[in-house]
Amino acid sequence: MSGTSERRITDLPTLIEALAPEDRAAAGRLFDVVATTGRLDPPEAMRAWIERSFGSVEAVTEQRIVKVTNRATLEGSLFNGLRASRPLDTGVSVDLEREIEATIGDPFCHPENGTPADVFGRLRGEHSITASNVAKYDGFHGVVIFDDHNPLHLTPEKVSDYISVGLEWCHKVLAADPEARYPFLMWNCLWRAGGSIIHGHAQVTVTRGTHYPKVERLRRAAASYRVESGSDYFDDLYRVHDSLGLGIPAEGDVRAFASLVPIKEKELVVIGDSPRDGALHRTVGALLRDYVQALGVRAFNVAFYMPPLVPVDEDWSDFPTVVHLVDRGSPANRTSDIGAMELYAASVVASDPFRVADLLRRGSPG
Ligand SMILES: [Zn+2]
Repeated sequence: MSGTSERRITDLPTLIEALAPEDRAAAGRLFDVVATTGRLDPPEAMRAWIERSFGSVEAVTEQRIVKVTNRATLEGSLFNGLRASRPLDTGVSVDLEREIEATIGDPFCHPENGTPADVFGRLRGEHSITASNVAKYDGFHGVVIFDDHNPLHLTPEKVSDYISVGLEWCHKVLAADPEARYPFLMWNCLWRAGGSIIHGHAQVTVTRGTHYPKVERLRRAAASYRVESGSDYFDDLYRVHDSLGLGIPAEGDVRAFASLVPIKEKELVVIGDSPRDGALHRTVGALLRDYVQALGVRAFNVAFYMPPLVPVDEDWSDFPTVVHLVDRGSPANRTSDIGAMELYAASVVASDPFRVADLLRRGSPG
């Protein structure tokens, strides 16, 4: 799609109205969009500060806000044109590089001696090795330790290796415990994203009984959507995003887009048929590279929603592999990006998904 750079999230109601009838119908089935205007009356003494901070007084006296709700999953985000119009920070922090280098020599730099092994031993990839997590989230909780100390020195090839090794670890777990059938793969990059160790690492868990509640909730939402609308939830989800100009190029049959209901800044969703699809792994790796190089992201989370490793009682037949990528903000910022709104109401998001998709379509400069 061309000419999408002028599109803005605050124009979403108009953009949806302009869609072809079938795309517009899918958008209506899936999303509830409400636009509103916030108004205020600043005292004379504040005007100079407002002009410096926001460009003009008019920019803040009338603020357009759009609330987007996914009707199927009840995920929702609030976008404010004023916040969304701020420039995206793509600068590189030299201090961060120094801080990362200062921790070279940590236990993950020599994992064989610095970390415990799992009861079934370690798996070795081309760019990574596994360890058993010391303080576990769940009965099976492993770490994929990257050979690279610096977590931002990533390439699509290295990321593919981390993911493959993580999935292989899940299957080792299943062999050790046939009841451990529900896998989860995640990556918390740097402290703002919940990573306590700087050295590059992803984490894997396999749980018993039922899947983690947020994964199971998505499975149930997609199943209900199929019953109520007769359409596939994931097909409609991609169709709406792509028709609006939010699709991002991906390898093979993989589908990627900048989300209309991001959980936080610049959230991307990548959908693949199988967790073991190499094209999916490389697409996630390429998007993370562009996240870092083109969008200036430093702290991020990645999460893989995957069906169980073997068939179970509930129906996962229509459930693809869904990968979420989200920016957690500048490591220099002391304010948490998650507050009471995000925990208990809806996500408040500053980055415009149309700008995120546009920058990623242009690709990495380096
Ligand atoms: Zn290290």
